[in-house]
Amino acid sequence: MAEPLAVYVHIPFCTIKCGYCDFNAYAGMDALKDAYARALLREADAARPLLAGRAIASVGFGGGTPGEFPAQHIAALLERLRDLAPFEPGAEVTLEVNPGTSSPPYLRGLRAAGVTRLSIGAQSFRAAELAFLDRIHSPEATAAAVAAARDAGFESVSLDLIYGLPGQPLGAWLESIRAALRLEPDHVSCYALTVEDGTPLAARIARGDVEPPDPDLAADMYEAASALLDAAGFRQYELSNWARPGHESRHNRAYWTDRDYLALGAGAHGYLAGERYENIAHPRAYIAAVEAAPPGQPRPALARVTTPALPAQVADWLALRLRLLEGFAPAEFERRWAVPLEAAAGSVLRELAEAGLLELAPRVRLTARGRLLHGEIAARLLVCLEQTAPRLPRLAARAAPPAPPYAAPK
Ligand code: SF4
Repeated sequence: MAEPLAVYVHIPFCTIKCGYCDFNAYAGMDALKDAYARALLREADAARPLLAGRAIASVGFGGGTPGEFPAQHIAALLERLRDLAPFEPGAEVTLEVNPGTSSPPYLRGLRAAGVTRLSIGAQSFRAAELAFLDRIHSPEATAAAVAAARDAGFESVSLDLIYGLPGQPLGAWLESIRAALRLEPDHVSCYALTVEDGTPLAARIARGDVEPPDPDLAADMYEAASALLDAAGFRQYELSNWARPGHESRHNRAYWTDRDYLALGAGAHGYLAGERYENIAHPRAYIAAVEAAPPGQPRPALARVTTPALPAQVADWLALRLRLLEGFAPAEFERRWAVPLEAAAGSVLRELAEAGLLELAPRVRLTARGRLLHGEIAARLLVCLEQTAPRLPRLAARAAPPAPPYAAPK
């Protein structure tokens, strides 16, 4: 049997669209939910040839707010996936919920449907910060959601937090971390607020109504969060993620370790056999494409396929591996790319090590300082690979084939 794969399911519905969000998420489209659920089932059925001979290692429901999608639709999709491919023993089924829409009966419904892990979008434990972010919940609602998740039988509960808000003092951020820890989660994710072009938040900053986030303060916040979480018994295993032993996200690991993942849903991104692809983004257009697709089209809502140039493929591999604190062994690189790491990126890796950003042995991994500069390190790796890759023909032989011609659904 081929390597097991992950399945990502995108649920694009939200109660309101938050001012900082540039995800493929839509408010005011509740009337589409039943048709969307039917389209997901059809898209899963169509993907049967892609699942043939493979087991499913994990399913991740992201969004949008998957926790606003009726539990019976989640149950029906999981049942259909189980009909199409065996789930590995201990397969993780993870779903993002918003504390504002996580009633006890709903969470019990998710648990009964086979969801094993909840990722609760706490974001902050200060009401004023939640209001700034346009979040519809209160700090009390997050505490209630965690309690309801435990009552429903969830043994793995994660809390998502955002730091680096304009005007947010370091002390306020640490208060949120301590409040999160008092709820005894199994996993915590900390994300820096990023100002995405085209969002209402970007417009407010451009008008001067809101201060832009301070990157130096955000770096201090990251380091302080790391210290607090370490002291509370959490182990950082990825740039933004901390877990109690055994509670690391299996599903997200697929993204960081070059594993295949199938995409289902509007705007979902997938990665199969080295090829990255993306579904049609708008929910209405997605539903129409799936309904109109002729039989035999395994990706009926395909919008585009991208095969990055070889240097970008290799640099992406390195940058994703370096997100994990365990890093990677040089032998893993050589197994994947058929050339020694030294030949492909030795010079830049040594420079980064001399600058105190990387350890090279026994595994290549970021130092604590390197974790603050992952984006810059990824850019340096790409520049290096653009110079070395053309000189390494065996590397080219391991690259993903160029994207095949395909007909985009109308
Ligand atoms: S709830 Fe999440 S996905 Fe939805 S609009 Fe807000 S930030 Fe975006």
